[in-house]
Amino acid sequence: MNPFVYNGLPSRVVFGAGSVSQLPAEIERLGAKRALLLTTPGRASMVSAIGKHLKVAGIYDKVVMHTPIEAATEARNLAASLQADCCVAVGGGSTIGFGKAIALTSGLPVVAVPTTYSGSEMTTIWGISENNSKKTGRDPKVLPKVVVYDPELTLDLPAAVSAASGMNAIAHCAEALYAHDGNPIVSLMAEEGIRALSSSLKKIISNGKDLEARSDALYGSWLAGCSIATTSVALHHKLCHVLGGFGLPHAETHSIMLPHALKYNSEAAPEAMKRIAHALQGKNLWELQKSLGLPMRLADIGMQEADIERAAKIAVAAPYPNPRKVEYDPVLELLRNAWEGRRP
Ligand code: NAD
Repeated sequence: MNPFVYNGLPSRVVFGAGSVSQLPAEIERLGAKRALLLTTPGRASMVSAIGKHLKVAGIYDKVVMHTPIEAATEARNLAASLQADCCVAVGGGSTIGFGKAIALTSGLPVVAVPTTYSGSEMTTIWGISENNSKKTGRDPKVLPKVVVYDPELTLDLPAAVSAASGMNAIAHCAEALYAHDGNPIVSLMAEEGIRALSSSLKKIISNGKDLEARSDALYGSWLAGCSIATTSVALHHKLCHVLGGFGLPHAETHSIMLPHALKYNSEAAPEAMKRIAHALQGKNLWELQKSLGLPMRLADIGMQEADIERAAKIAVAAPYPNPRKVEYDPVLELLRNAWEGRRP
């Protein structure tokens, strides 16, 4: 066995249908008495129902995507003026991102209640947008102290959001399997994450209220979050970050790009590919994506053909470590294939 470094992150996880009822006890364990609840306008009624059982200082219900600095400052000021002693983020990666933005400057503990499959709740990665670009970093302060995974809260997650968010989580697992700083523990989690997600997403698309499938997908997304939390991401995530700068939607971009990025790396990372195929249990990722009704072409989600070359140049200018050398011509071809929706 090759030598490796494994970095365990300290967070407490409470998992299971109905587990949101344990939120009051979890907040009490932290010694907090004045929680600031965070939510998007769309989840506000769910969050105020949850808040009835908690010692709440206030609710910030104006969460938007990509944590714009103006909104993050507003939420930080609200937390300070209410003398909140913890943040409870109920929602997807966007909402959890606001909890992290508050924790970054105040050190307030974050309790995350994820309702999508973004995996952000398990990472120390924060991101704040300013002047049309997203600044990101890693800081242990932003890692949620407690994560409550309650699949019942995900039963209303729309099919299209579930599918794209699930593919985003599969991408986290896939790249962890060939990360230059990967290790056997993370690989176990990543492989199991792909298995849990790929076997549940189709069931969710045909019946969003399937609690067993919802539980499997949420479990898979937890493993996906653990997988990217301590290993570096590679070409796939780099391309998605670049495309995000062109205004493309986060999870759908991940979904379209993943089969193409895996094809790019297939010969350079044979062991990872074997494990991914094993976890997919005979399914082909591109076909899975298609069967979930997801967009298949970058052209369908707003990418202009004229931007393909510029995106390739940005991606190769400062590449992340990747099993196969990141070079302009094959990356351009990859992007063109993804733009046209060719089967990789
Ligand atoms: P999101 O949080 O924006 O949620 C997507 C949509 O689903 C929103 O409209 C939301 O209101 C809705 N929604 C959420 N939960 C719902 C529910 N249970 N029922 C019905 N609707 C619901 O999207 P996301 O994909 O979860 O997160 C994307 C963001 O997270 C991006 O900004 C990305 O950069 C960030 N992210 C960060 C990390 C990290 O480690 N820091 C990891 C992954 C993603």
